[in-house]
Amino acid sequence: MRTEAQAVVIGGGVIGCSILYHLTKLGWSDVVLLERDELTSGSTWHAAANIHGLHDSTNISRIQHYTMTLYNALEEETGQSCGVFQPGSLYLAQTEEREHQLKLQAAKAKLYGMNFYEISIDEAKKLNPLVNYDGIRCVMYEPDGGNVDPSGVTNAYAVGARQRGAEIHRFTPVTATEQQDDGSWLVKTPKGDIRTKWVVNAAGLWGREVAALAGVELPLQPTEHQYFVTETMTDVAEHGSRLPSVSDRDGEYYLRQEGQGLLVGAYEKDMKFWAEEGTPLDFAHDLFPDDLERIEENMMNAIERLPAVGDAGIKRVINGPMIWSPDSNVLMGPVPELEGYFCCNGIIPGFSQSGGMGLMAAQWIIEGETQYDMFAWDMARFDTWATKAFTKARVQDQYAHRFAIHFPNEERSAGRPARTRPIYELQSEMGAVFGLNAGWEHPLWFADQPGTKDTNGFTRQNWWAPVGEECKMLRDRAGIIDISNFAKYRCKGPGAADWLNAVFANNMPKTVGRSCLTPLISKRGGIAGDFTVTRTAEDEFWVIGSGMAERYHKRFFKEVPLPEGTSFVSMTEAMCGFNVAGPKSREMLQQLTNTSLATEDFPFMRSAMIEVAGIEVLALRVSFTGDLGWELHCKSEDQLRLYSALLQAGQPFTAGPVGSRALMSLRVEKGYGSWSREYSPEYWPQEVGLDRLCKLDKDFLNKSAAVSVLENAAREQLVLLHLDEADVSASNADATGGEPIFKNGEGIGRVTSGAYGYSVGMSLALGYVKNAGPGDVVDVMVLGRPHKATILSEPPFDADGAVLRG
Ligand SMILES: Cc1cc2nc3c(=O)[nH]c(=O)nc-3n(C[C@H](O)[C@H](O)[C@H](O)COP(=O)(O)OP(=O)(O)OC[C@H]3O[C@@H](n4cnc5c(N)ncnc54)[C@H](O)[C@@H]3O)c2cc1C
Repeated sequence: MRTEAQAVVIGGGVIGCSILYHLTKLGWSDVVLLERDELTSGSTWHAAANIHGLHDSTNISRIQHYTMTLYNALEEETGQSCGVFQPGSLYLAQTEEREHQLKLQAAKAKLYGMNFYEISIDEAKKLNPLVNYDGIRCVMYEPDGGNVDPSGVTNAYAVGARQRGAEIHRFTPVTATEQQDDGSWLVKTPKGDIRTKWVVNAAGLWGREVAALAGVELPLQPTEHQYFVTETMTDVAEHGSRLPSVSDRDGEYYLRQEGQGLLVGAYEKDMKFWAEEGTPLDFAHDLFPDDLERIEENMMNAIERLPAVGDAGIKRVINGPMIWSPDSNVLMGPVPELEGYFCCNGIIPGFSQSGGMGLMAAQWIIEGETQYDMFAWDMARFDTWATKAFTKARVQDQYAHRFAIHFPNEERSAGRPARTRPIYELQSEMGAVFGLNAGWEHPLWFADQPGTKDTNGFTRQNWWAPVGEECKMLRDRAGIIDISNFAKYRCKGPGAADWLNAVFANNMPKTVGRSCLTPLISKRGGIAGDFTVTRTAEDEFWVIGSGMAERYHKRFFKEVPLPEGTSFVSMTEAMCGFNVAGPKSREMLQQLTNTSLATEDFPFMRSAMIEVAGIEVLALRVSFTGDLGWELHCKSEDQLRLYSALLQAGQPFTAGPVGSRALMSLRVEKGYGSWSREYSPEYWPQEVGLDRLCKLDKDFLNKSAAVSVLENAAREQLVLLHLDEADVSASNADATGGEPIFKNGEGIGRVTSGAYGYSVGMSLALGYVKNAGPGDVVDVMVLGRPHKATILSEPPFDADGAVLRG
């Protein structure tokens, strides 16, 4: 066994083996995989191993598409059979909403060149005559859908990795991972130790236990999961070819051919946790007793749709464990608080995603960044707030709703509240409908009645009209937006200016009281974040960024060493904030402070520590709504007092609380981008309009990458689109993000944010397009159907910034 390696992968399931394979494919041959038992000893060996390409998320679709096309190539490359069957998959829609979901996915498939399209019921009947198509509104067909052999695939990755120099050691449990003074790791096993720069936790069902060896707590919880396989069925045996699998998600089961019978699996409502206190170390190639009663309801749905299933005998039942994160997505990426420790845990559809996840992991480890934006799958989206209780509640909800449609703007209530701020109770009494933001309860909108909940759907919902009233109130008079969810940091010390200049692409303000906007540049030269930096003293700056990206940004900040005597501290928990904005905001605030807020005394992009209602606040003359306005940041213990004072001061102006859904609409009217939508590492500064904020006459983090991308022409451009009123009214739906954009039938881009612009009376979308510009008429695929839209030459609200600066 090697004693040194570039990376040590812990776990020989399908994911660990794929990571090992992809590390070697990207050029690292000095890599080792350690498996405590045989390969496949966790969830892998007993999986149904269905493979799907399309997903609501574009980047997951790309990852799944890559995986589906990899298996045949892997087989050819390694000579190891992957047992690939690709008879296709049929996706059935029983409801209008499922139809919207599938049609949107089909539009995305067309944009990205993936094979997934609508077929008629007659065509579907020919492909799979066992299905009863009564009540089916539409059928999508994915010709590459099917299944693989779990152990064949895992071994093929292993063979491919070994062929390029990797070592695999079975029956070699990792018993300790110890970080050394030089940052390297010592991975300990009973057969000897290995020193490495990278530890990769791919320990599947034991992801928690392996993470704990390095002092890391992962929000993961295993559950049981069952499928059964029928005896030989005449209808199946006599069908001339292998039957396409059936995704009847409204029926909450999955089904495919296995041998001459069928395999039916289910995510039941009455789910069962396993190993709550930790996965037993002696568990391997084990199953649980059958418990078909638990999935009876799902089985009945399957029998109703495929009556032949009801006549078939059951040959075997598989009841095995799988491990979930709180949102059922992988927890991936380097642990921000450690050097050289990578996680890839909690993957539910391991066979649909193994290739893509292995590739992303290898890119991240070797190249420092993935080609696709993985923020939604980054382990940094959770932090210590995701407690065991939260994780369990969310996993229960995710499992029981595995096949439910997850609508845009949907906020699930399980496990909440996890974190609240002092005004939570007051906001609740005021009718706030909350969303989850980095664990915090955050007001989305204010309803007339306390306790009101969102309705969900692809079309306009119960919040649509009240949010419009909030927007109009703010644009006509003033509004108070809780912006406590922004991340806040204080940088203090003699080296503060130099350090911030070395981190961020823009020049930091030279004068006390000035603010600047700045991008943070990613490893490949894309946008890793957007921040407002304010100089509050010669040696002190406040940095404000995205709250949900705070842990993600840690990785960037730690790349530039802090000078002696200079600190950079998160103040997100210690501080809260409000944005008071709108034409009356000055008059309203002036009642509460002796500091003059007149433009000549307090111009746009200036800041000061002032007293508002006797409370010390950091006041910034900025506003994400595009109006005249101030951000006021106070100590968390002062939040209730400040909020009460602001609400009272707003009364004479009939100004009141505004939620984040309104903020979304207002910033889209102004054409402002937002983190994880318009701003992501996938986009270059010149594509987002942030190139003028990259100062190439100084050094900053990842400057050489910025220089090399800025030498190129933009591949796409961020634009603002106005959707045709008649089309939008007919659908009763606005764009929400992710909708493909076509021009003359050709895919040219996608929507990143969509909202109705209430104050301008226009349905709007921000998105990236290529080969199109202002005045062009394009099709935006809202609900998967073409909606005419015109690319605007300027934002419909305050294009010249007169209101903002006024
Ligand atoms: C009943 C069932 C049906 C499923 N059906 C499908 C499906 O149809 N399609 C699909 O895509 N997915 C399906 N899945 C999910 C799929 O099985 C998983 O996503 C996948 O197997 C996860 O693989 P993994 O490599 O992450 O983890 P695991 O398979 O759990 O592998 C982890 C490995 O790490 C090893 N290990 C743990 N601790 C140590 C240590 N200290 N030292 C060394 N080695 C260690 C373990 O022995 C194990 O081999 C199904 C799962 C179940 C339970």
